[in-house]
Amino acid sequence: MKLLQKLILLLMIAISVYGCSRSKSGSVQEEVAVHTYVKDFANVHLLVTPYGNLLIETGLSGNTEEILQWLREKGVAPENLKAVIVTHAHYDHAGGAKYLQQKFGVPIVAGAPDSSQLLLGENGKLCPTGFVASWMAKSSEGTKYPSVQVDVAVEKSLSLAEITAEPELPGMVYLLPGHTPGSIVVVINEMAFVGDLFRGSMIFKSAERHLFMCDLKDNDQDIRYLLEDIGKEVQTFFPSHFGPVTREALENM
Ligand SMILES: [Zn+2]
Repeated sequence: MKLLQKLILLLMIAISVYGCSRSKSGSVQEEVAVHTYVKDFANVHLLVTPYGNLLIETGLSGNTEEILQWLREKGVAPENLKAVIVTHAHYDHAGGAKYLQQKFGVPIVAGAPDSSQLLLGENGKLCPTGFVASWMAKSSEGTKYPSVQVDVAVEKSLSLAEITAEPELPGMVYLLPGHTPGSIVVVINEMAFVGDLFRGSMIFKSAERHLFMCDLKDNDQDIRYLLEDIGKEVQTFFPSHFGPVTREALENM
């Protein structure tokens, strides 16, 4: 992220009520505890379950050591993670994936259509949704991150039980392209981890359109599909930027 962009974002966050927490704990639902680490506006979610622990997103590559330290503080040894789920091939989601795979042998899960982009280790084409996004896209499209070979490529959907070989582990991973061709969401009990399908708000509790989305109508349909079909039991939605978002807030988006 360029210095000017960073300064503007920092200024915005300074006037919001959001900025003070670097990490925060989320909700506990049916034996799945969620902890979220926030750094550089990117969320990393740790799911602690009786059947093993999962990481959703890996943040920016420069923050990996801090994230590992946070995991250890939560009592989770990185080498014991059942899987690391990267919702899509962007630098602020996939930055630490290679390191976790290489150093700790943790399998990386991602959407099959994003596999080649992850192997390239570079943000692909972005579809800006407005003026600010257009300005940001210019500097973000070529952003690099450590290239990573995906271990489990999700074609359409896959259960977390299949991914981890833990038959009791609930939850599903679904391909929901739009932000990128291989974007995925994770639905587990009454929670959904949505990557950049939408974002939370810096200031309010609302759900907001992500800055980069290729087809807005398709994005709206995907959100409806999540609400009414694959995530009809979901009460809390965890985007990868800001949030979490309640079901009511998402319905009012
Ligand atoms: Zn993204």
